[in-house]
Amino acid sequence: MHDFVYREGELYCEQVPVSRIVKEVGTPCYVYSYSTLVRHFRAYDSAFKNIPHIIAFAMKSNSNLAILSLMAKEGSGVDIVSGGELYRALKAGVSPSKIVFAGVGKNPDEIRDALKADILMFNVESSAELRAINDVAASVGCRARVALRINPDIDPKTHPYISTGLKKSKFGIAADRALEEFKLASSLKHIEVVGVHKHIGSQLTEVTPFVEALKKVLKLVELLKQDGINIQYINIGGGLGITYSDETPPLPQELADAISPLIRDLKVTLIMEPGRVIVGNAGILVTKALYLKEGEAKSFVIVDAAMNDLIRPSLYGAYHEIRPVLEAAGHRPKHQVDVVGPVCESGDFLAKDRSLAEVKPGEALAVMSAGAYGFVMSSNYNSRPRVPEVLVKDGEIHVIRARETFDDLVKGETIPGFLK
Ligand SMILES: *Cc1c(COP(=O)(O)O)cnc(C)c1O
Repeated sequence: MHDFVYREGELYCEQVPVSRIVKEVGTPCYVYSYSTLVRHFRAYDSAFKNIPHIIAFAMKSNSNLAILSLMAKEGSGVDIVSGGELYRALKAGVSPSKIVFAGVGKNPDEIRDALKADILMFNVESSAELRAINDVAASVGCRARVALRINPDIDPKTHPYISTGLKKSKFGIAADRALEEFKLASSLKHIEVVGVHKHIGSQLTEVTPFVEALKKVLKLVELLKQDGINIQYINIGGGLGITYSDETPPLPQELADAISPLIRDLKVTLIMEPGRVIVGNAGILVTKALYLKEGEAKSFVIVDAAMNDLIRPSLYGAYHEIRPVLEAAGHRPKHQVDVVGPVCESGDFLAKDRSLAEVKPGEALAVMSAGAYGFVMSSNYNSRPRVPEVLVKDGEIHVIRARETFDDLVKGETIPGFLK
């Protein structure tokens, strides 16, 4: 469910016609709906109301300060994966007591900053990292709370690039080595073992892989108990999918119904790290058609947004629906087209072989479901300034990130003296 709907042939974001945003802000731009964001967060949160839980929004999916402070106001924590994300989270007012830190390559500076901020815990991905955290905690003079990330070897049945819980994955610690690692962890002086973590992948459209993975984790928790290691937090990661075209992912409530009975009696706090399911359908990328081009074998709609603005189609072959901002009166004939950007790469496309209602040059188009892994993955490739982000609330347009300027493009670059 989202708040991007047509009224009398015009696409709206909540009470605001998208065409008005185009006039005020220009294209390309990202547009987010406040009410969709809040509704999505609350749906997830209330689904788990019967068990103690923390939602740690996976901020790598969308890390704009305004979005983060909205989440924080709703009571969300965050899942961070870098020192930069820690910086953003603290700046946005996220409570450190709800910050968890994942990632296979945390460096000593990032670990120190996170310890000083007194975050809830590190999700640890290897024994080498465990020792590194122990060393940094010793130098800071504290104990680091950790969960070990287990790789349950469950196939999430999603795209290989966003599948993270299989044996061949770089993530987590193999389930059969976990016990040993936990023993090492609890023997280290500056480590306090508090949890188990798993995250098996993204854009999951079934409940079963979540349940299977959790069952493996629970077996481990039982074994740990026998060894005197008491787990207080079970973190099931994120990964719940959304509808991009015709997927029918489970609702948060269905996930909760499947998972709650398994952990209800355990006296643990459940941590969850949803990203995409909160922000994905709460945002769109608005672009403008520049030219129509008839190639030898294909027809192209050339638009002003490109792979540097939204890389998901190029990177994962991801599908994003494309809709006109002004639905034409009457019926436009449909044409099979590639929607491509101005970047000098054949991989620069937003849609391939798509049947679209005839596009007119100059008209605005909405690339749907672009709120997650959209702006955050954008770059300045081809020296293209990154596009603005807009948050719509109560009929008002708030620019939450300005369009970059050409000066922004060269910020920090210097020409050494010998070249002058
Ligand atoms: C990416 C990631 C998430 C969020 O995944 P979504 O599919 O966006 O919900 C959660 N936890 C970890 C550890 C991640 O790497």
